[in-house]
Amino acid sequence: MAKVELKSVKKIYPGGVEAVKGANLVVNDKEFVVFVGPSGCGKSTTLRMIAGLEEISDGEVFIGDTRVNDVPPKNRDIAMVFQNYALYPHMTVYKNMAFGLMLRKYPKKEIEKRVREAAQILGIEHLLDRKPKALSGGERQRVAVGRAIVRQPKVFLFDEPLSNLDAKLRVQMRAEISKLHTRLQSTMIYVTHDQVEAMTMGDRIVVMLGGSIQQIATPLELYNKPANKFVAGFIGSPPMNLIEGTINGSNGQLTFRDASGVLNVNVAQQHQNALQSYTGKKVFIGIRPEDLQDNISQTITPGKSVQAPVEVVEPMGSEIYLYLNVGGHTITARIHADREPEVNKPHVLDVNMDKAHYFAAVSEVAIR
Ligand code: ADP
Repeated sequence: MAKVELKSVKKIYPGGVEAVKGANLVVNDKEFVVFVGPSGCGKSTTLRMIAGLEEISDGEVFIGDTRVNDVPPKNRDIAMVFQNYALYPHMTVYKNMAFGLMLRKYPKKEIEKRVREAAQILGIEHLLDRKPKALSGGERQRVAVGRAIVRQPKVFLFDEPLSNLDAKLRVQMRAEISKLHTRLQSTMIYVTHDQVEAMTMGDRIVVMLGGSIQQIATPLELYNKPANKFVAGFIGSPPMNLIEGTINGSNGQLTFRDASGVLNVNVAQQHQNALQSYTGKKVFIGIRPEDLQDNISQTITPGKSVQAPVEVVEPMGSEIYLYLNVGGHTITARIHADREPEVNKPHVLDVNMDKAHYFAAVSEVAIR
């Protein structure tokens, strides 16, 4: 069993920076959990506390059933892959992968078996006699992962392992690490600032901001039910449109209106109850770009449509990203590529209000 559990884990660096403000989390056995958030939100610090590379200021960390607060890193049965994977330049790929086991005095036969197995899993058997300088970036990254695999750890920890690779290779390695997880069936914790990486790889995602966990959920839950305005804006590309405005009307007939009055839409039936107590108050509406639909006949339906001048048209091939200026704010829509609206001309979009999200103005918590 290789469950990882964090109980009210805090990190206060010398000088007083509170990098992690009480993290509670259970990573289940065999689960792939991704920590994601903007730079400086405390992802690496949390991972490094699990690894034992950073002292825990308060709280407890468990790996399996063992409380590891005072267990040195080498005895935690974890293996870590870093962004700067620093292979030993003078050693062959074989030796780079074998070295950790040699230090631990594993029998030679066992080392050979594990290195060959890992090399086979990673498709680098033909590279075993080469030195790192004769490898491409992606191959080096595979060797770094191989070094972790041969340890057969209870838990794999990845700290932004792909951020030094170019975009295409990142996508390829992303898929390889997912496959590796399926094959090895081990617990993995993966840190990234890239929400696409998080969405595509994680069984569950931990979204962090300013040292605090904002939400822990599956990728689809995060996308469809963000807990607050930050998560709503962070997960999804292009990001969700978030517009401040007021709830008006009375129960059963509520509307949302932004400050300019350009966006004036009827709240869908299923959101009426939750928004009732916000009548006359400020809220944020959240509309994903795909929930702004191109109005084919360009006719306005009151309470459903928004008409605003086009700022930018970005053809993406299969679709178009359309940027409209709604009362001084830019909103983004994803529309079909079969026609190209003209810049500076007014354009009509229909809002799929069934899919709208709402967030309280001050707390920014989702209203449901
Ligand atoms: P992330 O991995 O999300 O980018 P980090 O965990 O590296 O964030 O950092 C979280 C916060 O802790 C940041 O404000 C960072 O400046 C601070 N921090 C990180 N390492 C140290 C350190 N060794 N000493 C002091 N502050 C640090």
